[in-house]
Amino acid sequence: MKIELPGKVALVTGGTRGIGLEICQAFAAAGAKVALCARDGAKAEETAKQLGGGARGYACDVSIPAQVEAFAKAVDKDFGQIDVLVNNAGFTKDNLLFLLTEADWDSVVDTNLKGTFLMTKYAARGMIKRRWGRVINITSVVGLNGNKGQSNYSASKAGIIGFTKSVAKELASRNVLVNAVAPGFVETELTQSVTPEARKYFLDNIPLGRLGQSSEVAAAVLFLASDLASYITGQVLVVDGGMVM
Ligand code: NDP
Repeated sequence: MKIELPGKVALVTGGTRGIGLEICQAFAAAGAKVALCARDGAKAEETAKQLGGGARGYACDVSIPAQVEAFAKAVDKDFGQIDVLVNNAGFTKDNLLFLLTEADWDSVVDTNLKGTFLMTKYAARGMIKRRWGRVINITSVVGLNGNKGQSNYSASKAGIIGFTKSVAKELASRNVLVNAVAPGFVETELTQSVTPEARKYFLDNIPLGRLGQSSEVAAAVLFLASDLASYITGQVLVVDGGMVM
């Protein structure tokens, strides 16, 4: 069954590479109009051009409230509405607890968790008015299980799960569904810095015996954005080859 989202406007944060780019490509292939952002605005515009289908790229740092508000307003103006929001932008700044600085903590929590809150706040207003909307937050298995050296990242991703469930309860009566997708270990730029030992550890603990592909995460996001998922809200869909079960 091919998922189609003709005419829907999908806003994807962090859409210029890795999982976010694959999500943008999946939405474009399904006939949705894509608005994507990254801190590197030129790269966002170039990515949108390559996507085609009227996609547009914007410069936005999701950790900065004024930029998020301006971005959501610009998408509303350029596309008329926002139907689907994918909070994908995220990054890591790993260190063991006693070496982790306050700045490392703040930068990761501000992008991953506060960015998700801000984007949802500004993008969901129209969804509520139109009584249709989808918010899909990219968390991580690290938000479920924790990970040595990633207390800031893990806290931000666990926070996203709590946020998802609370907002799902708030917006359900307006037919705005809010879910999270928790990828495991996916081959992207973000995971390229992982040491060979850590890589081996992960591989040894993935029942399917391989790393995930960005396209496999994008497929879960597309499903949650579609009418196939019309009775699902407040859930965490884990896409990890069986690592967490
Ligand atoms: P990448 O580093 O490959 O891509 C991150 C994207 O987010 C880029 O487009 C980047 O563009 C953008 N970005 C980063 N910070 C910001 C910001 N403050 N504001 C706006 N855009 C930003 O990451 P992945 O594709 O690997 O990860 C995507 C999401 O999936 C993240 O939330 C990550 O935590 C999550 N995840 C990834 C896993 C993996 O194994 N790869 C596993 C579990 C979860 P720019 O730098 O120009 O801003």
